Amino acid sequence: MIRTFPDSVDVAIVGSGPCGAAYARILSERCPSATVATFEVGPLLADPPGVHVKNIADPAERARAQRLSEGPAPSADATSTDTMDGYADEAPRLVRPGTFLLADGYRQDGEDGLPGAAMSSNVGGMGAHWTGACPRPGGSERIGFVDGLDDLLAVGERLLNVATHAFDDAPFADEVRKRLSGALDDGRDDDRRVAPMPLAVIRHEDGRVTWSGSDVVFGEPTRANPNFTLVPEALVTEVIVVDGRAGGVRVRDQRTGDEHVVRARFVVVAADALRTPQLLWASGVRPRALGRYLNDQPQTVYAVRLRDVTPGAETQVDPRDEPEIVPQSGVSWVPFTDEEPFHGQVMQLDASPVPLADDDEPTPGTIVGLGWFCAKDVQESDRVEFDEADVDPYGMPAMRIHYRLTDADHASIAASREAVKRAAAALGEPLDDREPLTFPPGASLHYQGTVRMGEADDGTSVCSPTSQVWDVDGLYVAGNGVIPTAIACNPTLTSVALAVGGARDIADRLTERN
Ligand code: FAD
Repeated sequence: MIRTFPDSVDVAIVGSGPCGAAYARILSERCPSATVATFEVGPLLADPPGVHVKNIADPAERARAQRLSEGPAPSADATSTDTMDGYADEAPRLVRPGTFLLADGYRQDGEDGLPGAAMSSNVGGMGAHWTGACPRPGGSERIGFVDGLDDLLAVGERLLNVATHAFDDAPFADEVRKRLSGALDDGRDDDRRVAPMPLAVIRHEDGRVTWSGSDVVFGEPTRANPNFTLVPEALVTEVIVVDGRAGGVRVRDQRTGDEHVVRARFVVVAADALRTPQLLWASGVRPRALGRYLNDQPQTVYAVRLRDVTPGAETQVDPRDEPEIVPQSGVSWVPFTDEEPFHGQVMQLDASPVPLADDDEPTPGTIVGLGWFCAKDVQESDRVEFDEADVDPYGMPAMRIHYRLTDADHASIAASREAVKRAAAALGEPLDDREPLTFPPGASLHYQGTVRMGEADDGTSVCSPTSQVWDVDGLYVAGNGVIPTAIACNPTLTSVALAVGGARDIADRLTERN
């Protein structure tokens, strides 16, 4: 069937992950008369658009949705239905279902590279596959020059449906937090003490859980907006810039190969932290900081078995039913502080991540996985570059990652390994007497800095505090790449908050014009 692409809109958005969706939502709420079109290179997975794959009840349908998200060359393992598959795998290139790895260019000779660098291509982006942890940044993670950051974070929590107490009734959740608090809370401010992890999730009265994807961020205001259009399987190959102003986008229909030009007064590129700079570069928008200050969060995981707990009758569920966060899982948060600069997430698992003896069936909640994330020692030289001569499978400029862990990073990783062991010792005994496992760079899936925000146009940033690209009027960037600080916590809430700030700026400008 031939599709109609609009000739002209007020706002063109590239990418339908949570950050692109936040622009559509805020514009629908504040400026319903504005015409807005979102172009997404990946396919629509299910209804409503942007739905989290974990909300797809049928395992085969869910697996199909994951495969459809894996870009031009989907994973060979079409049988896996486990969204946490590979999580504790020691393979050098860890890949999660619903994502695909950067096939080449992820490491240069003599460098550490980002072997785990991954992306998702589907309506909803990685937000259809994520875990939904939404902590607020603290201490040096916060972006001091953004006006009203806490207000923006609160709107982000509203858009993502963040709940803090969804899994409080999980077996042993209180006990886990009590033990962690006893060991770690001393000297911390109230808002930086051990707490339940804020999660983008709705827990229904009957115990069912609905995970927030971009569908939740779009919300009814966007779905009901007759002036909003979502175009899946549409690759934006260029942002058209005329006389220093955004003028529209060039889009390739992935179904037919046809090219369309869509004129737009404002263009928002929310195409993830690797592909946003790629599109700007392909469009000739190449500020000095573009692609630089790339950072990912070095991640160490560990697992323990809770000591001295007695299962109650209510915990007798089959741990093999759902290998993910379920109502039987407690998720706790050890917040980042400048004194203890790690973000800790502690998840009670309903199944062991490593095989135990055949007759040793762990009681749900007694196996606890700990993940400790470090803030990277941010370097201008860590960067994604683009090849003049070579292209990626979409025909866009090929990526070349330059990335090194500094001495400070090695020291911070070593300290995080000790920190995770201290937290684990408060809880129980390590499984199999194992040591913590530090993943290769990129495995966190939290890539930041490549289109970073700055207070002034001094060559160290790509965009203003409202996300507008310096020197290109009407061109905005969104996603984790906008975050300028070295944050260790999960970044999506912060990125969505910054997207809210950018969307409000566009809404104000559209309103002024009318
Ligand atoms: P994305 O969600 O990546 O969306 C970008 C979209 O842009 C994609 O759909 C892509 O196809 C599209 N696109 C790219 N280029 C083009 C183009 N040229 N034309 C058209 N479309 C294009 N984060 C957290 O904060 N907490 C967590 O607990 C967490 N857990 C995670 C667990 C997993 C398994 C995964 C995979 C991710 C997790 N994340 C987590 C990361 C989180 O999903 C991302 O931070 C978030 O999705 C980023 O949103 P975004 O809108 O910026 O980008």
